[in-house]
Amino acid sequence: MVVVGAGALGLSTALHCALSGRSVAVLERLTAGSQASGRAAGLFKSVQADELRTRLARRSITRALAFADWSGTPLEVASPGSFLIARTARHRGFLATELAQSRRWGADVHAATPAQLAEGLGYYKAAGDDFALWCPEDVYISEPASLIEAMLAACRRLGVVVSEHEPVVGIPVTSGRVTGVETERRSIGAPAVVDAAGGWVRQVAALAGARIPVATVRHQLFITTPNRLVDPDDPIARVVDAAVYLRPARGGLMVGGFERGPLPVGPRHQDASFSTDDVPLDLEVLRRLAAQVASEVPAATAAEIADHRGGLFTMSPDGRFVVGPVPDQPGLWVASGCNGSGFSSSLAIGESLAAWIATGEAPPGLTALSPARFGPLPDDVLITRGLWQYAHYYDPAGPGPE
Ligand SMILES: Cc1cc2nc3c(=O)[nH]c(=O)nc-3n(C[C@H](O)[C@H](O)[C@H](O)COP(=O)(O)OP(=O)(O)OC[C@H]3O[C@@H](n4cnc5c(N)ncnc54)[C@H](O)[C@@H]3O)c2cc1C
Repeated sequence: MVVVGAGALGLSTALHCALSGRSVAVLERLTAGSQASGRAAGLFKSVQADELRTRLARRSITRALAFADWSGTPLEVASPGSFLIARTARHRGFLATELAQSRRWGADVHAATPAQLAEGLGYYKAAGDDFALWCPEDVYISEPASLIEAMLAACRRLGVVVSEHEPVVGIPVTSGRVTGVETERRSIGAPAVVDAAGGWVRQVAALAGARIPVATVRHQLFITTPNRLVDPDDPIARVVDAAVYLRPARGGLMVGGFERGPLPVGPRHQDASFSTDDVPLDLEVLRRLAAQVASEVPAATAAEIADHRGGLFTMSPDGRFVVGPVPDQPGLWVASGCNGSGFSSSLAIGESLAAWIATGEAPPGLTALSPARFGPLPDDVLITRGLWQYAHYYDPAGPGPE
């Protein structure tokens, strides 16, 4: 089989297919992990908006922590847990709902006392009326490239051939079935082709005449210079009313967030050479988000910025992944619709998709992620809904604006 794209989703799918004994080739337009996956914050989050996503997120955490056991390659994972914090009445109510439903779905989540928040999160000075959830299962991978490198090493050990700088330029369809891929140098026959092309997923599917319903949106973060206010062992924090996430990074603080008016940008209306390096970054957007937590998190605004990076999210209209067989294109599969969680969920998604391809049967619950679920949606609707999902990343079923 062939996987198109060597990001987290493509490599995880390739690795899990190889683990089940398949012969796998991965074709990558640029270099492995160079696009969205290499720029991720590396955060894994056990509290999710529905039961299926909770299951996938928690399965990924388990797989990340035990990565060496099942893949044979070491992977460093920080497991300090996380706090989810709300500072408005409406967001406090939203977190209370998340607490109840996440516990019902099996996640280990607790309401944190003010003392637990004060003692457990050194870089956060609570105002006193904060409501927080403590999520001990949550982890992060400090440098996202380390997951990519670990998956690459495990793939290669299992005989997966990963070809970089070899874009797929054609997907032949014979007698109504996808038969492989074409690059500028060669044709590769394969009974299954997985489109895991990230921000380019629609372009790749279009090579077979198919359409994948995702919209691409910019996302950014920064890392401050080292700061004594930040203990490297501190947990992750997500301030949901500000839509801001924070974690220790390189001796400083990582700050990322979700603006209410996100920027739709992507390769569809750009030159063929468009890459993540061409996504226009805007530090002011992040400064405004950081300013919302300045009183509680002085390190978010006081320190110099050492790294500012960004890339593309592939947003689906309902905020769920887009995974499974592409409708009316037998032989073509997709792993996309990351909705901001593609890095952290890649281990569970690759595992599930590999099982689905091997058996032809969807693993329990996975048909809910099928690209067929949307029907024909015009692009403007797709973009509007995708932007809404982005802006409501931390409160998809929660309160509207204050
Ligand atoms: C700043 C930032 C922070 C983020 N933080 C987090 C986080 O904390 N947790 C989390 O879970 N997620 C996070 N994400 C989202 C996460 O990065 C993505 O969901 C995930 O990386 C998507 O993986 P992917 O494999 O689909 O895409 P990519 O990593 O973009 O990989 C797709 C690959 O396909 C290749 N490709 C494209 N076209 C072709 C072609 N024609 N032929 C061959 N190859 C092709 C591309 O070159 C690319 O390498 C973040 C994203 C950004 C931008």
